[in-house]
Amino acid sequence: MSTPRLEFDLKKIHHNASALGARLERLGISVTGVTKACMGQPRYANILLSSGVSSLGDSRIENIETMRRGGVSAPITLIRSPMLSQVDRVVRHADTSFNSEQDVISALSAAALKAKCRHSVVLMVELGDLREGILPRDLLAVARQTLDCPNIDLRGIGTNLACRSGVAPDSKNMGELSRLADMLDTACGPVTSVVSGGNSSNLKWALSGADIGRINNLRLGEAILLGLDPLDRSPIAGLHTDAITLVAEVIESKLKPSQAWGVIAQTAFDDQVETRDCGTINQSILAIGQQDIDPDGLTPPHGIEILGASSDHLMLNTGKHSVAVGSEIEFQLNYSALLRAMTSPFVAKKYMKPIKETSMRSDFLITSLAS
Ligand SMILES: *Cc1c(COP(=O)(O)O)cnc(C)c1O
Repeated sequence: MSTPRLEFDLKKIHHNASALGARLERLGISVTGVTKACMGQPRYANILLSSGVSSLGDSRIENIETMRRGGVSAPITLIRSPMLSQVDRVVRHADTSFNSEQDVISALSAAALKAKCRHSVVLMVELGDLREGILPRDLLAVARQTLDCPNIDLRGIGTNLACRSGVAPDSKNMGELSRLADMLDTACGPVTSVVSGGNSSNLKWALSGADIGRINNLRLGEAILLGLDPLDRSPIAGLHTDAITLVAEVIESKLKPSQAWGVIAQTAFDDQVETRDCGTINQSILAIGQQDIDPDGLTPPHGIEILGASSDHLMLNTGKHSVAVGSEIEFQLNYSALLRAMTSPFVAKKYMKPIKETSMRSDFLITSLAS
């Protein structure tokens, strides 16, 4: 079996998506399943859809096109403001896009007119995290301009927190989003059918019993894939945190001193690295590196320590045991390591299908990025 590889347990992912969907449905909140960490893999999209998510979201038009080519026909939202140079592709393949620039909305309108289709727009509002969004005081003006754009449907508003600055969703910022929805509806008629409160980091607030106001949608990526709350990376009760595993192969295994020798200068990736002297150790090297993973985002098996990484090598201290060349070592990944592994063409992707889908066979499929 090819290594390195990412193994996706689609059954566990299905469980995570269904469990979160059920908890939020009781609150009247729909889930947009975010596919960007899986590069729009149609298999992942289909698992999300079969678990009951109402729509899909991705930040890249390329990934949305991958899903369309793979036969995914569910509503898909481009959750990053479209590039002006991509508006034709956006109106063709995405039903809705998140927007914060009037020029882009006008260009989407022109593209939709040309393509003889309609395109929906959700206006993103800046509520403090200082990533994307229209400042609240400018929202009404942009909404009015959007309503005047031919072939564009204003579907609602949204916000995104806890990404750039770590601003946590709470009753204050979520209350403000609800009030802005009310304000728009009062000024323009019922235009805000979607009020998208945020990403996985909104779960703690949404499930806390707080008044959710008009929030009726969340966009979930990390919580479904990793079962973690991005606010503090704590496990979410009842979810699997081991649905995704990285497997890499040992290419060198030797007893070596633990401390480097010679004149120490900068390394390939760090200004300075200190090696501590703890005698002779069992050092193994895996054929995977910075190009494929974020070494800080890997959790090794018990008893194994990650010592360092260069572009193509990951050095481990395997403790008392020497590990044979050719052995496979498994890791859990955080979001950053997952993103990098997913986008590395050198890491194979293996999808373990849910039992239902494979008529009671446990079936493994290997796909490389190229397929
Ligand atoms: C990536 C992204 C999400 C999903 O975030 P998670 O923390 O993975 O749930 C939601 N909304 C936007 C705008 C995003 O870019």
